[in-house]
Amino acid sequence: MTQTAAPSPLDRFPPTRAAGLERLRQFVPHAGADYARRRNFDLGRDRHEGVSQLSPWLRRRLVTEEEVLAAVLGRHSHRAAEKFVQEVVWRTYWKGWLELRPSVWTAYRAGLARALDRVATEEGLRRDWEAACRGETGIGAFDAWARELVETGYLHNHARMWVASIWIFTLRLPWELGADFFLRHLLDGDPASNTLSWRWVAGLQTRGKTYLARPSNIEKYTEGRFRPEGLAPAAPPPDGPPHPPVGPAPVSDAFDPAAPTGLLLTEEDLAPGFVFEAGARPRATAFLDCTAGLSPLMPAPHLRDHVRGAMEDTAARWGARLGPVTWLAGAEEIADWAAREGLAQIVTPWPCTGPAAEALAGTAVRRLVRPYDAAAWPHATHGFFRFRKRIPALLAQVKGLRAA
Ligand SMILES: Cc1cc2nc3c(=O)[nH]c(=O)nc-3n(C[C@H](O)[C@H](O)[C@H](O)COP(=O)(O)OP(=O)(O)OC[C@H]3O[C@@H](n4cnc5c(N)ncnc54)[C@H](O)[C@@H]3O)c2cc1C
Repeated sequence: MTQTAAPSPLDRFPPTRAAGLERLRQFVPHAGADYARRRNFDLGRDRHEGVSQLSPWLRRRLVTEEEVLAAVLGRHSHRAAEKFVQEVVWRTYWKGWLELRPSVWTAYRAGLARALDRVATEEGLRRDWEAACRGETGIGAFDAWARELVETGYLHNHARMWVASIWIFTLRLPWELGADFFLRHLLDGDPASNTLSWRWVAGLQTRGKTYLARPSNIEKYTEGRFRPEGLAPAAPPPDGPPHPPVGPAPVSDAFDPAAPTGLLLTEEDLAPGFVFEAGARPRATAFLDCTAGLSPLMPAPHLRDHVRGAMEDTAARWGARLGPVTWLAGAEEIADWAAREGLAQIVTPWPCTGPAAEALAGTAVRRLVRPYDAAAWPHATHGFFRFRKRIPALLAQVKGLRAA
């Protein structure tokens, strides 16, 4: 008897814009009432039709938020698609929130380094952490989700909430180790959405409010697949420092459209159309993959393959506009590339807080903020409920926006 191999993460989420647009096309009819009714149900791998599963494409901007919102609002009224629109805007909000307070990422990295030091010296912690990452804790639901994450590169939002809660309050593992486990495996792993969601579950993001995974809730929203026993009955909020003060919102650096220009693309934003519209005419382009900087440990091979595939797709699609294409192994190669190509300046879509910003810190690249981000991020100063009041203004702008 021949066994069919399980689809790989790249089979499930091919790293091309065409595949992302096809997923969007299939999802759009369901973005209204269907999404509102089904979005909280995690029915198991290969049964996630209640949600869009667009996040790996959105993460690298093979498909942009504007395009997703425009497609959905082209088919549904805002009222009918309100839930879905709101979720897309959560991503925008988290990105803006972290851009206004980048030290929260630095603090996460420091906490992770301390937790990994403890893993190296505390045998019990090391054993429990390894068991959690392998899906061998004995909590059936948790173990199934840990394996789904490792094997598919995706988890339903509700499963992410349950896993994070069980990780922190039942297994009593440091939250930073869990956030790192996600970042090393999620195809959509994002410094903003991931770090701030883990902080939210842990009770650090909305002060005094934690998220407790309850067996009855899991049973209901997995349609009885799981009803785990032995989960923590309470999730006491921890002490933690207050949020850092809000910093300045990102603003595009000036550049000279007439000067010999290079374009630098990272996995943060593979939709360079807005850079061309801003007047940049690159004579050469370089791709820089910063994913190795997501974690002190090795990201899953599927993650690196997805980023590489997405970049190759971008190079192929925009070929004529890019000039000769170079693949950089690290930011330290930027200066040599610029000298070789005779570049007077290098422009890049805004490198968001995380590995891309870290890689480019100290270089002279000119960072350009996408109009959608420029319209939204400065308003991520307080909670989401205040931010979402901006949604109508943002949508008014989206309707006028062109393709990425
Ligand atoms: C602990 C934890 C960690 C998370 N880590 C990440 C991460 O690293 N990267 C990431 O993109 N999302 C993260 N999320 C948010 C959310 O779970 C995913 O965006 C969503 O599950 C992606 O699946 P989808 O595309 O099918 O979502 P859909 O429900 O179809 O939503 C459409 C899009 O809206 C955005 N979105 C939806 N829900 C959220 C949310 N709660 N926060 C931010 N954006 C959202 C995503 O871009 C998503 O593709 C995390 C959530 C939790 C609780």
